[in-house]
Amino acid sequence: MRTTRLYLSPPDAGPRDRELLLDAFDSNWLAPLGPHVDAFEKEVAAVVGVDHCLALASGTAGLHLSLILHGVGPGDQVLVPTLTFAATANAVRYVGAEPVFVDCTLGTWTIDPDLLDEELTTARRSNRRVKAVITVDLYGQCCDYGRIVEICKRHDVVLIEDAAEALGATCNGKPAGSYGAMGVFSFNGNKIVTTSGGGMLVSHDARLIERARHLATQAREPAPHYEHRDIGYNYRLSNLLAAVGRGQLESLAQRVERRRFHNRKYRERLESLDGLTFMPEAPYGRCTFWLTCLTIDRKRFGTDRESVRRHLDARLIEARPVWKPMHLQPVFSSCRCAGGAVAQSLFDSGLCLPSGSNMTDAERDEVIELVLEARSS
Ligand SMILES: *Cc1c(COP(=O)(O)O)cnc(C)c1O
Repeated sequence: MRTTRLYLSPPDAGPRDRELLLDAFDSNWLAPLGPHVDAFEKEVAAVVGVDHCLALASGTAGLHLSLILHGVGPGDQVLVPTLTFAATANAVRYVGAEPVFVDCTLGTWTIDPDLLDEELTTARRSNRRVKAVITVDLYGQCCDYGRIVEICKRHDVVLIEDAAEALGATCNGKPAGSYGAMGVFSFNGNKIVTTSGGGMLVSHDARLIERARHLATQAREPAPHYEHRDIGYNYRLSNLLAAVGRGQLESLAQRVERRRFHNRKYRERLESLDGLTFMPEAPYGRCTFWLTCLTIDRKRFGTDRESVRRHLDARLIEARPVWKPMHLQPVFSSCRCAGGAVAQSLFDSGLCLPSGSNMTDAERDEVIELVLEARSS
């Protein structure tokens, strides 16, 4: 019997992160700028294959800024997958715009390109002003950008990529975050690379990042007396936290490998069981499996998702239902949703299993045994 709780995706930090953090501390750059911030931005840009990056206090701040930069505001609509974390849709509300939700596909769990195309066509016919699409690379899996980039171009809407969960993933050989006009990453404590809290806004367009940097720095004009022409935000990342992020980023490849390894082992033991279906890896990309997720068919497996989750919880193992779709959230209940049944079924039966890069083989095997036990108990 365990004595400490096994978490879904806890921070995985080590001596290198600590060393860089102390270097930042000793340099006295205790500020939301400094040499580690500059270096972290360059290093993330290299990993993501973009030219420009802005380190931020959160991924949510990146989503907010990207909408402001594209002039999204009251009267505008923004298409968002319904299966996501609330931060994606909240950012749309921050700028006074209206989220419109779109269902996902069973094959990828990401936004359905056909429904997206259809919804953009419907919106144009009914004179609804859709200004942007925010795609979400869910649980470490990229959306189908081979199709989505073309669809957004044809409908003349800007594509913003919420890659908060997908640092290290690729689609057609190109990194997550590099497909949109802007891409957003999160370094929250549960993400694959963490700064305890933080984010990154990335783009191929220097002017967008320059403008974002200005707004994120309280919109201070270059004048000694603090001149302001715009409403600004205090959104920049601390130099101390950027130092931690640099250490974490050095081992990104190993972090991805370890999460993929857990996914492979979970599948080897559980995939053949009747009623268990894992989130598929889309053929066009390489998923990080930030979280390993599966659905549980109560009739075929013999017990339901909640029973399995509670069985694990009673033994100090954290597992969580798949994101509750936004169109089912009370706060967004008045919003339009194209489809929604697929996301709802994934929510009803989907479970995320412990997937941390520092989870041991023995811990993972314990999770597997308990899932099997939940069936027979
Ligand atoms: C974590 C997450 C965010 C928010 O990132 P923060 O850094 O916590 O603000 C946004 N979107 C998705 C899909 C996420 O998983």
